[in-house]
Amino acid sequence: MLYMEILIRMLAKSSICVSLVSVRSREKPRGCAGCNGKILDRFLLQALDLYWHEDCLKCACCGCRLGSTLYTRANLILCRRDYLSLFGVPGNCAACSKLIPAFEMVMRARDNVYHLDCFACQLCRQRLCVGDTFFLKNNMILCQVDYDGGHLNGSTDRQSQ
Ligand SMILES: [Zn+2]
Ligand SMILES: [Zn+2]
Ligand SMILES: [Zn+2]
Ligand SMILES: [Zn+2]
Repeated sequence: MLYMEILIRMLAKSSICVSLVSVRSREKPRGCAGCNGKILDRFLLQALDLYWHEDCLKCACCGCRLGSTLYTRANLILCRRDYLSLFGVPGNCAACSKLIPAFEMVMRARDNVYHLDCFACQLCRQRLCVGDTFFLKNNMILCQVDYDGGHLNGSTDRQSQ
């Protein structure tokens, strides 16, 4: 057995939905996490159990307004672009060699990363899930059956380098 571990990278869990909440006039005004002032507007933004004026929820890096989604890490509130440039790690799929955006969920085997859709046995196309046993041979993902069978039919044996 060469390798049997699947890791999932999911940067997307750092993305937080921002909701626009209408304020009822009878409610006690909430404090803004940005300017610390009271929010007396008809609408406020809510995320991470905090509240902001619509103008106060900004990216810590570029200062752009964050109306619908924010990204957070290390106590920073960031827009997607700045989050990606600071923390995102895009890579190329080892199966189809297309780029995998940093926010996408990937499968990883050794130093290779794969699109979820590409993470399948490259002989029988069976999709592999977390916890499944798979084998990496000549940089090809193989299921147990094909890995075992490969010794018999000779299609995958013998490393060229
Ligand atoms: Zn404010
Ligand atoms: Zn930004
Ligand atoms: Zn791929
Ligand atoms: Zn297979």
